[in-house]
Amino acid sequence: MDQPSVTVVGAGIVGVCSALWLQRAGFAVTLVDSGGIGEGASFGNAGNISPGAVVPYLIPGIWKEAPGWLLDPEGPLAVRPGYFLKALPWLTQAVRSAGEEAALRTSRAMHALHSGTLEAYAELTRGTPVADLIELSGQLYVSEKPGAAQGSALAQRMRAQFGVEAVALDWMEVRELEPCLAPIFKSGLLLPKNGRTKNPHQLVTGLAGIAQRDGARVLRGKVEGFRTEGGAVRGLIIEGRAHPVQRVVIAAGAASRELAAQLGCRLPLEAERGYHITIADPGVMPRMPVTHTDAKFACAPMNVGLRLAGTAEFGGLHAEPDWRRTEVLKRQAQRMFPGVRLDSVSVWSGNRPSLPDGVPVLGRAPAADNAWFAFGNSHFGMSAGPVMGKLAAELVAGRPSSADVAAFSPLRFGA
Ligand SMILES: Cc1cc2nc3c(=O)[nH]c(=O)nc-3n(C[C@H](O)[C@H](O)[C@H](O)COP(=O)(O)OP(=O)(O)OC[C@H]3O[C@@H](n4cnc5c(N)ncnc54)[C@H](O)[C@@H]3O)c2cc1C
Repeated sequence: MDQPSVTVVGAGIVGVCSALWLQRAGFAVTLVDSGGIGEGASFGNAGNISPGAVVPYLIPGIWKEAPGWLLDPEGPLAVRPGYFLKALPWLTQAVRSAGEEAALRTSRAMHALHSGTLEAYAELTRGTPVADLIELSGQLYVSEKPGAAQGSALAQRMRAQFGVEAVALDWMEVRELEPCLAPIFKSGLLLPKNGRTKNPHQLVTGLAGIAQRDGARVLRGKVEGFRTEGGAVRGLIIEGRAHPVQRVVIAAGAASRELAAQLGCRLPLEAERGYHITIADPGVMPRMPVTHTDAKFACAPMNVGLRLAGTAEFGGLHAEPDWRRTEVLKRQAQRMFPGVRLDSVSVWSGNRPSLPDGVPVLGRAPAADNAWFAFGNSHFGMSAGPVMGKLAAELVAGRPSSADVAAFSPLRFGA
């Protein structure tokens, strides 16, 4: 009998991890991407792999700070002038998700996706050089205000509820841990059980290499739509031609909205643009990822240099990047790392796939029995990817889920 097959649309961290777990569940897999493997949001993120990420961005208090961020041209949040009305429904829903009860629900969903991330990566990479790209490094969060790096009482309660190890540090302990930081930080929080990848792009291409070694086909082309028949997807339309499929997983990151709409689900998915600078020869390097909690950006030691990554900018999926944002990151680098050399800087921008409740979508497409959605991991896709992929494979295979997936229902916003 022929091996059953699945076509995964999108070769970012979520699509590639889904492909690997689908192979383990016995499927032949084809990965389709309009660009190169791992060249979407998964290319240039900060590489934090965070089993302890249980504190949502949308949390009580954020809407007191947000107006100030929006008014500050160097602030971490921006809405392009012509996009404000388009972003308004998303922002309004996000305000609702920042209430305590909703934030606690999001926290539970984050725990379900993130807590097993390092083990899941270990399982997918075992016995290959890709495993060396992941490290249990610890992560440091710092603030220029005394006591503030720990976050609110609710944030601390969320970490305690899920047993996330977190060590509060004073300014001296921050300096001892990361002597290359400027003496401007008054408090810190060390999460010793969190980790990092040394290079997110190499990690995704390495994982895709494992899938290809095990028989996956990779096809380059933009999926424009579907040929459906009898409530099932029979073909993908790629550059005007139909490619037959048996089953489909949509893991197209921030571009998934249009594809999901064609499969019966209008989702409020937004592209939340972020930027990075990578300094090839900075002359200074923190030992572990350091997040500036006031200015909301991450500094990550990579095998290609020191990366600073951040900004949440709403301007639509196809907006041209505003490279002035990377100038802000350069100034932040100088402020944070005295003596940093900025003569070898590359810049990048990418779109986080973000839903207004901070929870991704994982489930069957309403209009097709043989299509599933797996996207929407916003700021946490590198942490969620391997568990998202595992849960997606379980859904496709019709096996019991290893975690409760009700919170991820694509129907929670209405069909
Ligand atoms: C600045 C920044 C810093 C970040 N830092 C972190 C971090 O430290 N830790 C963390 O966990 N997360 C982080 N993230 C978030 C993380 O990068 C994303 O959540 C994750 O990469 C999303 O992965 P994905 O596979 O869903 O999407 P993507 O990586 O965007 O992949 C989607 C793929 O689908 C393809 N595609 C789209 N449309 C089509 C189509 N029609 N046909 C065929 N292919 C298509 C695209 O080409 C792309 O390759 C950060 C993000 C940014 C922007």
